[in-house]
Amino acid sequence: MSAGVPGVVVVGGGIAGLTAAYRISRGTAPAPDVTVLEAADRLGGKIRTELVDGFLVEGGPDSLFASKPPAKALLTELEIAHRLLPTEEAGRGTSVLRGGRLRPLPEGLNGFVPSKAGSFARTRLFTPFGKCRLAFEYAVPARPDDGTDESLRSFAVRRLGVQVYRRLVEPLAAGIFAADPAQLSLAATMPHLRAAELEHGGLIRAMLAERRRVRARTVTDVADPPPPSLVAPVGGMGEIVDALAARLSSVDVRLGAAVTEVADGGDGTYLVRARNADGEETVLRAGAVVLAVPSAAAAVMVAALDPSLAAALAGTAYTSTVTVALGFRSDEVDTRLRGSGYLVPASEGRAARACTWSSSKYAGRAPDGRVLLRVSLGGPGRSGVLDQPDSELVAVARRELADVLGIRAEPVLSRVFRWTDVMPQYTVGHLDRLAALDQHLAGHPGLVVAGSGYHGLGVAECIGSGSLAAGTVLTRLEAVSPIRRP
Ligand SMILES: Cc1cc2nc3c(=O)[nH]c(=O)nc-3n(C[C@H](O)[C@H](O)[C@H](O)COP(=O)(O)OP(=O)(O)OC[C@H]3O[C@@H](n4cnc5c(N)ncnc54)[C@H](O)[C@@H]3O)c2cc1C
Repeated sequence: MSAGVPGVVVVGGGIAGLTAAYRISRGTAPAPDVTVLEAADRLGGKIRTELVDGFLVEGGPDSLFASKPPAKALLTELEIAHRLLPTEEAGRGTSVLRGGRLRPLPEGLNGFVPSKAGSFARTRLFTPFGKCRLAFEYAVPARPDDGTDESLRSFAVRRLGVQVYRRLVEPLAAGIFAADPAQLSLAATMPHLRAAELEHGGLIRAMLAERRRVRARTVTDVADPPPPSLVAPVGGMGEIVDALAARLSSVDVRLGAAVTEVADGGDGTYLVRARNADGEETVLRAGAVVLAVPSAAAAVMVAALDPSLAAALAGTAYTSTVTVALGFRSDEVDTRLRGSGYLVPASEGRAARACTWSSSKYAGRAPDGRVLLRVSLGGPGRSGVLDQPDSELVAVARRELADVLGIRAEPVLSRVFRWTDVMPQYTVGHLDRLAALDQHLAGHPGLVVAGSGYHGLGVAECIGSGSLAAGTVLTRLEAVSPIRRP
């Protein structure tokens, strides 16, 4: 413990935990002793970038919204901001599988409403009836502001109709959240849609109001920032993890340290128990603890400390997913892989949830003369795939590519990434449960949670969550020790 400053333990070395450790270790003078305990034998959690035979394979996330302020600030400090790749020209646009055929999404989607009339008129994703029903959204009255949550499906069906829900909203939401939109909380996942309904009366009305606002802008007005877009570091998402790890020289980072319990250590401290692979136990005393692990794992750690806190943490369910990456010789792939890939509606009844054409999306993902594709399997109602051996998962992914894209060639690369119980399900009532969780946490000063289980599961949101957790810890340390923030 440095000069009367209590130590800090960060549990979990994913992007949220690493961000928290980095910010805490640099946020004060003198700096507290910071220890990161990570159960796996590597840092990064769901961020997993591998370089194999000239391919750059992402097993987890392949991109992030880098313009979100906490992510932008971190990437600038890590000197990665200038190394971010936009989507390749040829990799723009996504398709939806419909009746076994790929239908490009209409251009200029704005809150699920196509903002370009020509593209909307031309799209073959919807029938004329589906298009009329979508246009009728203009006349659908707003649901009164009674403060209650509803599912994303309920919102989309009542405003846009069943067809647009099934062919657009469901596959997009299932692709982003690996969740069933009939269970997903609108307030926790897409609050801007409800805000548009309440403020303007509907999504089309909100889009038209925005158009009027932009037209009315005078030349002296400050230009709007560009809409957030997905980007990826040149060297893949692992670059962010490596850059953070390189800046943690003052932090004690322990791999293979699985935390089993966080107990009351008396005098406002906590005892953090961890076991290594040989079953040896370590106990660390800390003035503050950041639990940057899935909330279900955090629940187990605090079960004895506070059963009601544990119950609040256990309120979020998690689902499993699999990524199968396949590389092919370009001359054995007849299909033109234009766009970033395709989404598969549940109604298509296929094992795949989505397919990303990684080498079309970002430069440098496959060596010359090769292409790289990623098939996403699993998610709600499809998690049985995890019971199958890798060879079968590769076979399922290859069948998908053969059926949809006609790719029957032997892959030159195949990698399977299993993600068991990792995707948090923000089901209806999620924000109310988080408010209750905050009340339980208030009874444990210095105990903080961070990561994808709470206020956003994107990498950028997890960076924000880690930064916020660091701020809470530093405030706590300032209150109980002589440290000061510069
Ligand atoms: C296949 C896939 C694709 C995705 N694609 C995208 C994308 O393109 N863009 C995007 O923005 N987001 C994407 N996401 C979501 C995003 O990657 C995650 O939400 C985010 O990386 C989670 O970070 P985290 O730090 O909260 O958790 P994690 O990365 O899960 O880190 C938690 C860490 O805690 C460790 N841990 C668990 N239990 C213990 C214990 N008992 N003791 C010690 N350590 C423990 C784990 O080993 C892990 O390293 C994707 C996720 C997946 C799975």
